[in-house]
Amino acid sequence: MMTISVLDRTAGALSKSEQPDLSLGLLHDQAGHVDHDLLLCRVNDPELWFAESPSDVECAKALCQDCPVQALCLSGALERREPWGVWGGELFLQGVVIPRKRPRGRPRKNEAAA
Ligand code: SF4
Repeated sequence: MMTISVLDRTAGALSKSEQPDLSLGLLHDQAGHVDHDLLLCRVNDPELWFAESPSDVECAKALCQDCPVQALCLSGALERREPWGVWGGELFLQGVVIPRKRPRGRPRKNEAAA
């Protein structure tokens, strides 16, 4: 006897109402429950989290590491596909985490040899 199995692609998927809320509103709500001084993007110049300079970006990423809402901040930014900035200790560009911001301008001709 032959058996035909059907893959139910909806099985196990969460409905819209069951999906975790990873909105900025939730992040703000959670951040409201922690000591304001621990949210370093709020007590420092927020421009650092949207900096052009690679060294400033690395500084912002480092400051996020001890943030009490880092995991929520990162997962929300991934979900929202943040177009720009440092979120949850990672640099986002057009919705994708990029490991390291490159300096402006063309690479040096001898960069590979350096
Ligand atoms: S993890 Fe998010 S909330 Fe925390 S300092 Fe970094 S950008 Fe700000």
